[in-house]
Amino acid sequence: MTHDPIYQRKIQFQSSYPGRFPEVSPEDWNSHTWQLKNSLKTLPQLEKHLTLSEEERAGLLLTGTKLATAVTPHFFNLVHATDPADPIRRQIIPRIEESLTDPTEMSDPCGEDSHMPVPGLVHRYPDRVLFLVTDRCASYCRYCTRSRVVSGVSDQKLETQWEAAFEYLERTPTVRDVLLSGGDPLLLSDNRLDKILTRLRKIPHIQFVRIGSRIPVFLPQRITPELCEMLEKHHPLFISIHTNHPRELTTEVRDGLARLSKAGIQLGNQSVLLRGVNDSLPVHAALLHKLLMCRVKPYYLYQCDLIQGSSHLRTSVQTGIDLIEKLRGHTTGYALPQYVLDAPGGGGKIPINPNYVVSRTPEEVVLRNYEGKKFVYPEVNESLVAK
Ligand SMILES: *Cc1c(COP(=O)(O)O)cnc(C)c1O
Repeated sequence: MTHDPIYQRKIQFQSSYPGRFPEVSPEDWNSHTWQLKNSLKTLPQLEKHLTLSEEERAGLLLTGTKLATAVTPHFFNLVHATDPADPIRRQIIPRIEESLTDPTEMSDPCGEDSHMPVPGLVHRYPDRVLFLVTDRCASYCRYCTRSRVVSGVSDQKLETQWEAAFEYLERTPTVRDVLLSGGDPLLLSDNRLDKILTRLRKIPHIQFVRIGSRIPVFLPQRITPELCEMLEKHHPLFISIHTNHPRELTTEVRDGLARLSKAGIQLGNQSVLLRGVNDSLPVHAALLHKLLMCRVKPYYLYQCDLIQGSSHLRTSVQTGIDLIEKLRGHTTGYALPQYVLDAPGGGGKIPINPNYVVSRTPEEVVLRNYEGKKFVYPEVNESLVAK
């Protein structure tokens, strides 16, 4: 047996505290309100700690009307001080490239606005809806697919019609699954979230609710015992977190995820495939392995949407296929996310897989395994099978 180098990485969890904030008490640091109040948002605040490149400085000055900049102190401590190529830094510090728009790029790359029966409610698939419950996040991802409405600085505003949305859900029995997103739903107060979940839970045909959130990664201090206790009342509840790089999984994040798991919440992860962040095999394997150690199932790996100003962060689809191909069979099946592309213009998520079917006739299927060896499976003749 040859030993694959991706197995050999030593997985470590490190604390983000105190880092650049040695004067801050553990009590303040562990308070999510302190973290939000002290988020870094401006060029002088960032420049106090980072050596910014010309591209970053120009990005900070020019992108303020597109998508705000904000980084929690917790996440900011993970940013490299001098290296603009740092994978954490690339995700949250704007660059001048954000102001360049490729003709193929869009402000609403997944065609959500045209699939809203009620403002704030995207109904694309028959049985499930995406419910946009806030336009704010704890920190802003530079490749945000919803930057047209998120962070409050652009012209377009998210105007969720709460009562109309609940009434639509109440009278639409085909909807059995509601996905709360935004913005970040876990930025809402416990009380507000409790009210939304209670109202949804009263609808008999809604079987399943999930929350998409990067709060466990940007602001793990928000995952309080009180929040977990409230969420626990609304089972079955799933949470999809969003991590892209193994360094994001700190001890604080791991402990917050453990509290959610302990409350019985099923955890999945969604990553976006990003150039210079998670497009290499060792980094991606470490991310997936670290997620499993936090009891998080890697759910989706997204091809980066054609959001305006994202060309510097996108990779080719071939890069994604190659990555999945090098993981399948080489590591735990549970570690593998489904690689998907959200079709431009509103076609929904389309799975992309390496091709393992070499040829197919009515008599047999020829397949190849992860090592490239070929195997034959004789086909079942459906017309001869007793019905
Ligand atoms: C992603 C998404 C969903 C959920 O899709 P799953 O494949 O079930 O996770 C639902 N509605 C919209 C509009 C989405 O973009």
